[in-house]
Amino acid sequence: MLMASATAKTTFNIEKIRKDFPILDRKVNGYPLVYFDNAATSQTPKQVIDAIVDYYSNYNANIHRGVHALSQEATDAYEQARIKIQRHFNIPNAYQTLFTAGTTHGINMVASGYASILKEGDEVLVSALEHHSNIVPWQMLCEKTGAKLKVIPMLETGTLDMEAFDALLSDRLKVVFVNHVSNALGTINPIAEIITKAHQKGAVVLVDGAQAAPHIKADVQELDVDFYVVSAHKICGPTGVGMLYGKEDLLKLLPPYQGGGEMIDQVTFEKTTYAGLPHKFEAGTPNICGGIAFGVALDYMNEIGFDAIAKYEHQLLEYATSKLQEIEGLRIYGESKDKTAVVSFNINGIHPYDMGTILDKLGIAVRTGHHCAQPIMDFYKISGTVRASFSFYNTFEEIDTFVAAVIRAKEMLS
Ligand SMILES: *Cc1c(COP(=O)(O)O)cnc(C)c1O
Repeated sequence: MLMASATAKTTFNIEKIRKDFPILDRKVNGYPLVYFDNAATSQTPKQVIDAIVDYYSNYNANIHRGVHALSQEATDAYEQARIKIQRHFNIPNAYQTLFTAGTTHGINMVASGYASILKEGDEVLVSALEHHSNIVPWQMLCEKTGAKLKVIPMLETGTLDMEAFDALLSDRLKVVFVNHVSNALGTINPIAEIITKAHQKGAVVLVDGAQAAPHIKADVQELDVDFYVVSAHKICGPTGVGMLYGKEDLLKLLPPYQGGGEMIDQVTFEKTTYAGLPHKFEAGTPNICGGIAFGVALDYMNEIGFDAIAKYEHQLLEYATSKLQEIEGLRIYGESKDKTAVVSFNINGIHPYDMGTILDKLGIAVRTGHHCAQPIMDFYKISGTVRASFSFYNTFEEIDTFVAAVIRAKEMLS
């Protein structure tokens, strides 16, 4: 493992990267911050912070409407950001790259659209590894339409039961919803296989890419996915902004999500006609600054390179996993061989909340609880886990500090 750390350092300039993140210099409870809650939200590099300051200092204006200089500059920057996002995910057209308020918003846009398409007796499939944001909107949809919600079950290893998935494929299946990566366990799901098989039954697939986006550069055309959603705040961008990609015919088929300004063509009291894509789905003043900063965040990560990021994070994951496994009574949940840098664990007899509280006293930020994925916790018959999630700006030394703190907390609590 020492070797892994040494080779990673030669290909990855971690000292330089860490200097881009001002927050990593701060102390928490007198200790240097160790930020291992990246699956909840990532930290923000100064390039993105500067873009936000620049927007509000120099060209804050409403977009698409004004003829004045500031409005045009803001519109240009916002539309440039859309093109950056389009290219990043290899989306065919900019107008299929919709700005949203985040993953939850994007999922709800699609789910509410399907309320007028699905009928009683249709089937909707979600996976057992979903975030609540990818379960509840479909439950609401099924209640409204009379469609039936079915679940792709999971296995003890924290992976999907693909044999059960095959058995669930029916001619009544209309929509499949699955995350690319599970936020609670880090499992990378076989979405290419799921998409191919769902398409054979004529169903569409929405992939929640929120947890994959920081680690994997998804190519929506290669995947042939129907809808793909992400949040900027998990990819070094700000909160409250995200992206929804949809196939053109599907986006045209879906009714608008909200009525308001920007999304119309003609308005009279008798009838309103809707604007074309993407404006049909972008009612009201958007998060302009957030959208621009989202583009800058993608530029930042692409400059480091997603292959380099994935390789380095995988080394962090292997290092942390092997060190934690040495602790007696510790169990790691999620043992997929395809995994992002997430370690979810418990120690015999110790409540995850108590562990998290002691780690926080030592300056270490982890997540404890059900991670918005209660069905997974129910499957393992636990109330929650301690989840450490790593990013490319974390270090092997931080993992050493963390593992020592876990051992110390274990001694204090048992
Ligand atoms: C974070 C996350 C979400 C929710 O994202 P928001 O930005 O809160 O809308 C949904 N799904 C997964 C897998 C996530 O990790």
